[in-house]
Amino acid sequence: MNKRRRIYEGKAKVLYEGPEPGTLIQHFKDDATAFNAQKKAVIDGKGVLNNRISEYVFMRLGEIGVPTHFIKRINMREQLIREVEIIPLEVVIRNVAAGSLATRLGLEEGMQLPRSIVEFYYKADALQDPLVSEEHITAFGWATPAEIDEVMQLALRINDFLVGLFLGIGIRLVDFKVEFGRLYDQDGQVRIVLADEISPDCCRLWDVHTNEKMDKDRFRKDLGGMLEAYQEVARRLGVLTETRPPKGTGPILVANNPVGSGKPN
Ligand code: C5P
Repeated sequence: MNKRRRIYEGKAKVLYEGPEPGTLIQHFKDDATAFNAQKKAVIDGKGVLNNRISEYVFMRLGEIGVPTHFIKRINMREQLIREVEIIPLEVVIRNVAAGSLATRLGLEEGMQLPRSIVEFYYKADALQDPLVSEEHITAFGWATPAEIDEVMQLALRINDFLVGLFLGIGIRLVDFKVEFGRLYDQDGQVRIVLADEISPDCCRLWDVHTNEKMDKDRFRKDLGGMLEAYQEVARRLGVLTETRPPKGTGPILVANNPVGSGKPN
């Protein structure tokens, strides 16, 4: 179906050449992976949901002035984005102890952290994305000190906004991972912009009342109901209709994009 040139294939997404220079098409797959792809499954309809959820989050962030790679959603699974040079860091922002932080420091899962914590992991599958410090980042030239400052500021601003956005729909933003890229303007200026995606694949989202997990931990921990949880996140954000789709047909999307961008399907 896709005749475009494939630029890169990751675990959950494919990047294709875009229609114009400096653009790419980001395609969301249904593949779910965990533990550095040791655990794999295909979750029918996940890509459609992540495309929609990530579009919504990037649009909202764009509206408050966070620069992003997002241009517009093209269809159910694809969005048009600006081509950026990805900074090889996974930037994790944590509000509540969970996952690898809870394990590493022996913290009780669910403990509110004294303040939001930003961590950097070096993007290297072969090394299982090791935790690194600013010293490593600057010594090995993955980013400059000024870029790290910019990334930290953006990460905390994104976190403050998203904590409120999710709380408004009864969801606790426990932690999440973002990636940033360098966008080269025509005049040679470089800007750091938010790239990749923000979806339940890369966030921990807990229902504020029940603490139910509404994210990829459902897959990692074999809890079941992953697609239903993602659908519920999308429904609360207002990007899905109330109607539950018949089993196996995938989610039903609203005809009009409530945020007014991208083409409705
Ligand atoms: O596993 P850990 O606790 O370090 O994950 C922190 C956050 O970063 C979680 O929300 C997880 O979904 C996300 N993450 C990710 N991709 C990775 C590692 C972590 O999206 N490769």
